[in-house]
Amino acid sequence: KQSTGPPILSHRVTAKGRHVPESVHTFEELLGRYVIPSQLMVNLRRYGYVHPTGIQASGCPILLESRDLAAISPTGTGKTLSYLLPIMALLSTPISSSKTVAGTGIRAIILAPTRELVSQIYNECLKLSQGRKWRIVLFNKATAATLADKTVQDKVDVVISTPLRLVSSLQSGRLSLHNVRHLILDEADRMLDQEFLAQVQEIVTACTHENIQKAVFSATLPAGAERIALDMLRDPIRVIVGLKDT
Ligand code: ADP
Ligand code: MG
Repeated sequence: KQSTGPPILSHRVTAKGRHVPESVHTFEELLGRYVIPSQLMVNLRRYGYVHPTGIQASGCPILLESRDLAAISPTGTGKTLSYLLPIMALLSTPISSSKTVAGTGIRAIILAPTRELVSQIYNECLKLSQGRKWRIVLFNKATAATLADKTVQDKVDVVISTPLRLVSSLQSGRLSLHNVRHLILDEADRMLDQEFLAQVQEIVTACTHENIQKAVFSATLPAGAERIALDMLRDPIRVIVGLKDT
């Protein structure tokens, strides 16, 4: 998919929380501060991502430092990449190529409210991970059936799903989320409203690893949803991106 235009760069970014990591001005700056597989940078360039948007400049360092994050940034400001890049970097030893760690289960979950969004995130993730053997799964009926096999499940890096699809598998008892280290809620305003909240909470509860990192992303977050989000997060940083001159 082609970007519809240049990313909006004139953002007013506010970050609040304990020890907020400094934001970056370029993607390359991340290389000096964090361990980032060079393949990710190659892919960024390949797809024409030259300048980080406000949420990427501020959000990537926060996630790369394994902090929890509640991010509010307008539609079209590149929220997807702001979490995919750090997560792929943090998962930079793909289980499939690791000799020491036998498969131990799904390592990251990204949740979005509709199948269309799930599919968009999946495609973005494939673009970013090109050239490396991450196991990225778009969760649907067919892949859910495949993943019911524990030996397959153990080799998965990232699962991208709607809440309902994942909950169905959880309830059948054939999906284990005990190894999930990164949980992302995209379009969090919808994920935390009445339609999805119970499902999301069931998934959060099933992710039992004590070092799990959680982050929520949204264009808007009503007070009620924000309270639920902050309750879900541990020592979170809150980032709000506003458009200048609007
Ligand atoms: P949001 O989730 O905030 O609505 P998306 O993640 O869907 O935004 O990104 C919107 C568009 O901007 C996509 O087409 C994406 O490929 C493009 N994009 C994201 N980041 C950048 C960047 N740093 N430079 C250029 N284009 C970008
Ligand atoms: Mg989005």
